[in-house]
Amino acid sequence: MTITYFIDTYGCQMNVSDSETIRGLLNAAGFDECPSPESADAVLLISCAVREHAETRVLGRAAQLAGLRSHGRSRGPFMVLCGCVAQEHGSELLERTGLLDAVVGPDCYRDLPGILRERLRTAHTDRRTSDHYEDLPRVRSEFPRSFVTIMRGCDNWCSYCIVPSVRGPERSRESGRILTEVAGLSAAGYREITLLGQNVNSYRDGSTGFAGLLEAVARAADPAWIRFVTSHPRDLTRGVAEAMAGTGNICRQLHLPMQSGSDRVLAAMNRGYTSAQYMEKVAMLRELMPGIVLTTDIIAGFPGETQEEFDRTAGLLSEIGFDYAFLFRYSERRGTAAASMPGALPVEERLRRLHVLQDIQKRITLRRSAMLAGRNLRVLITGEARRPGQQAGRTMGNRMVILEGSSFSPGEFVDVTITRGDGWTHFGVPVGL
Ligand code: SF4
Repeated sequence: MTITYFIDTYGCQMNVSDSETIRGLLNAAGFDECPSPESADAVLLISCAVREHAETRVLGRAAQLAGLRSHGRSRGPFMVLCGCVAQEHGSELLERTGLLDAVVGPDCYRDLPGILRERLRTAHTDRRTSDHYEDLPRVRSEFPRSFVTIMRGCDNWCSYCIVPSVRGPERSRESGRILTEVAGLSAAGYREITLLGQNVNSYRDGSTGFAGLLEAVARAADPAWIRFVTSHPRDLTRGVAEAMAGTGNICRQLHLPMQSGSDRVLAAMNRGYTSAQYMEKVAMLRELMPGIVLTTDIIAGFPGETQEEFDRTAGLLSEIGFDYAFLFRYSERRGTAAASMPGALPVEERLRRLHVLQDIQKRITLRRSAMLAGRNLRVLITGEARRPGQQAGRTMGNRMVILEGSSFSPGEFVDVTITRGDGWTHFGVPVGL
């Protein structure tokens, strides 16, 4: 009898990429994906450990799904937690929650078919550093957009981050395999390819660094657009910026996490750059690519952050004028260096600071969005929008654009006149209509 499975994914694009690997692996082993957890023999929750919120959500979902076991089913779905949270907590989660049947870390996905067939109550979290799952056909889920993992793990040990513990040391994929993959995606009609890694700028395969890889990927994938995340400001070189500026299908859009505007806090975070060095990178990017869309991450209320240090962060947020910012209040992650630092701020104060940053950024995002009205931008059609009769697409700057009453195919590039914007989402009509 065929075993059916359902996948529920939480967290960042790395988890979406993990889901595609798992789909490919289970389908190749003869399992069938089904559209809802109610009819599945196994439910796989693909989790993220970076933010406490994602971990809480995935465990909440596990509790909700556990209810299926008592609703007319003699044997409820076999529940497996995969991804970073699984790696972080291992067997402890099996005991603590009582909700899960198995816990499988990112380096143990090859064990999944056996675990599901035998319904093994187990935690598989051994580290196998060399496995990039190269031989597995991935099952992609977001046509015409796709993700290509170019490296796994991270060696940076930012003091607030759990990733080096749960994703292991940095290891880059062979450039030849990456180029084959992106050329195949482009030939199959994918028109946006995002290169993924915790710190893509430190990619290295022999003499090929990230700038060289980026140019080669852009050639191999043409006409598809190329994006990449995440860039560590310390490792972003002029060579990478020149590759972006000099190649027509590399998107002029960059997510560059600043985290703080205070040099003392940046040092406590172990980020490896000062605010002045960060500003130099921003200036370089804007000099080479006027109009580049810049986004960032900032943490409010890091342990010991003084009001003056926070003001410096708020000041830089205003000064730089990011197109969008992902703003977080600091939350302790067990097992990180920051979790035991003195000077923890009350949660209310972290939230107050977060709201100050959110107010600043909201004004900037709205202003920059409004400035696009009347401009013509090329948009990649990604599919239907939420409302009937509308289609959605993305600009090179990764802004969402909603088109009324159009009927383009996903994967088509369309020139659009922006009529209005309300932040990150914009509305438009095809040029000439
Ligand atoms: S660079 Fe820092 S924040 Fe990013 S994954 Fe590595 S340790 Fe975490």
